[in-house]
Amino acid sequence: MSRIVVGHLFPDYLNIYADRGNIAVFARRAAWRRHELEVRPLGLGDEIRPGEHDLYYIGGGQDREQALIAPALEAFGEPLRAAIDGGAALLAVCGGYQLLGRFYRDRSGDELPGAGLFPLHTVAGERRMIGDVLLECELDPGLRRTLAGFENHAGRTFLDEGAKPLGRVLAGFGNDGESGYEGCRAGRALGTYLHGPLLPRNPWLADWLLAQAIAHRTGKPPTFEPLPDEFEAAAHDVSAARAYARGGRY
Ligand code: GLN
Repeated sequence: MSRIVVGHLFPDYLNIYADRGNIAVFARRAAWRRHELEVRPLGLGDEIRPGEHDLYYIGGGQDREQALIAPALEAFGEPLRAAIDGGAALLAVCGGYQLLGRFYRDRSGDELPGAGLFPLHTVAGERRMIGDVLLECELDPGLRRTLAGFENHAGRTFLDEGAKPLGRVLAGFGNDGESGYEGCRAGRALGTYLHGPLLPRNPWLADWLLAQAIAHRTGKPPTFEPLPDEFEAAAHDVSAARAYARGGRY
C-alpha cells in the first residue's frame, strides 16, 4: 500500500460540470489497487513545495471564478513547473487548463495572467463551443486510445509551434474548432477541455495518471491489474456515439 498525495488546486472556485468527480475516480481506482489517495486542497495563501505532491488536479470554471483566482495561480507558476519537471503528474480541465497557459483573454477583454506551465494562450470568442467530443490519443508510443467527454467553452486555445496536443479531434470542436487538435501535453502534465466528468468514461486515463503519480514517488510506474470496467466502457461508447452524431456543430 503506497500513498499518493494529490494537490487539488482551487477546489472551491474551479469545479463545474462535475469536475470534482475526477477526484472520486482517482480515489476509487487507487483503492482497488490498494493505494491510498490523500487529497490536499491548494488555494489562496497556500504554498506549493515541489516534491510534496505526486499529482495535481484543477477543474474548470466560469470567467468570473477564473478572474478571482488567476493572480494566485500565476504565483504558483514557478513551483508548479519545478514540481512537474521533478516528475509529478497533473490533470487540468477547461478553465484550469486555460490558466495554466500564458494568459486567458476573457469575454470582457480582460487578460487573466496564467501560470505558464503549458506553451499556449487562450482568447475568448463570440460563440461558445458546446457538445460531446471524441479524441484519439497516443500517450504511450504506438498505443492509440480514445477519450470521450463534453466541452463547453468560449475560449479558443492556440498551442505554440512545436507544442504537443493531448489528442486529435475525431468529433467535436477541441482547442479552437479549427486546428483539429485538443488539449496539451507537457511530460506528465495533461490539459484538456473535456468535462463530464472526464475520468468515469475514460478509466485508462485515470490509470495512466495514477501510474505516473506512483512513479513520481517510487521511481517506476506500476503495471496495474485490469479492472472490470464494463460500465465505464458503456458510458464511453454512449458519449462517443453522441459526439459522432452532433459534436462540433454550433
Ligand atoms: N470560462 C472559460 C471559457 O468559457 C472556461 C469554461 C469552462 O471551464 N467550462 O472558455
